[in-house]
Amino acid sequence: MFKFILWLILIQSTVQKTLVVMDFDHTIVEKNIIQLLTDMLPKDKLPVETKESFLKTFSFIPHTQLFFKKVHELKVTEQKMLQLIENQPPIDEMDKVLRILHHQNCDIVIISNSYSVFVESWLRFRSLRHMVNRIFTNPAWFDSTGLLHVKGYHFQSKCRLSPSNLCKRSVMEFFLKYQRFQGISYNKIIYIGDGKNDMCAALSLKENDLLFPRVGFLLHSMLSNITRRIKPKIFPWTNGSNIINILQTNKL
Ligand SMILES: [Mg+2]
Repeated sequence: MFKFILWLILIQSTVQKTLVVMDFDHTIVEKNIIQLLTDMLPKDKLPVETKESFLKTFSFIPHTQLFFKKVHELKVTEQKMLQLIENQPPIDEMDKVLRILHHQNCDIVIISNSYSVFVESWLRFRSLRHMVNRIFTNPAWFDSTGLLHVKGYHFQSKCRLSPSNLCKRSVMEFFLKYQRFQGISYNKIIYIGDGKNDMCAALSLKENDLLFPRVGFLLHSMLSNITRRIKPKIFPWTNGSNIINILQTNKL
C-alpha cells in the first residue's frame, strides 16, 4: 500500500515535457573546426587521418590531438580558432529552430562529437547558449601557450555503431534517467542529426518520437537502407525552414 501511494505521488509530481536532442556539426553549423582550419592552412602541412589510424582506437581523438599540435606549430592562435567558429553562420534557419523550440518550453540538449570550447563559444557568440539545457561533447581546452587539448567524452566498447569516445544513445539514456530523478520525464523526443554517429541514438527512439535526418548525409542514407522497422516518425530535412514547417504542420 505504502509503495503504491509513493508511486502515485511520484507520478503526480512528474512534469511531462518534450525533449529536443540536436547534433552540432553539419546540423547546426555546416563545418567543424577541423574543416575550417583545413580550408585555411596549407594541406601538405597537416596530418591526414587514415582509416587505419581510426581503426587503431575507433576514435577521432588521437588524430585530432595530433592535428591541433600541428595547428599550434603553424602559429594559429586560440583567438583565431574561436573567430573561425563564431563567424560561421548557422545552417539556414537552424537558429530559428532553436528559438522556436525553446519558446515552446522544450528542453534542449546538444549531443555532439565536436569539442566543448567550440560548441560553447559559437552558442554564446550567437546569443543562443541560454536556450540549451546541457551540452554533451568532448572536453577541450587551451593551455597557456595556446595549444588545444582534447579528450574523449567517455570510453565505450559496447556500441559498434559509435566511436569509442562517444555513444550518443548512452548519453541520451543517462540524461533521461537523470531528469527522471529530478521529477522531469519526456512524452516525446525530437531528434535532429545528420551523421553515422546519430544512428545508435536514432534506433533507440520510440513510436511517439520524431527523427529528423538531414538529406544527403549518412544518417539519412543509412535509414533509407535499413530493413528493420524504425519506431519514430521520420522527417528528412535540408534546412531549418523544413523543420519549422513540419513542426507547425503536425502541431508539434
Ligand atoms: Mg553531425
